[in-house]
Amino acid sequence: MTVHTLVRSTGRRGWTVRCDVCEYTFAAAVASLPEAVAFVETNGWIVGERTWCPMCSATHTCSRTA
Ligand SMILES: [Zn+2]
Repeated sequence: MTVHTLVRSTGRRGWTVRCDVCEYTFAAAVASLPEAVAFVETNGWIVGERTWCPMCSATHTCSRTA
């Protein structure tokens, strides 16, 4: 099962993660995929079965708990 399908190598330096909901993209200038995941997670992203940007993860959390 590929859980990081939305995290892609940019081909040069770094990785790009794309929000599963709003398609917002965020670039992480790190060498490896695990580093990219860790980097975006520290910036509020949720990466797993779904990939959410900070805004969508907040909205999702609110809607689930409302
Ligand atoms: Zn989003």
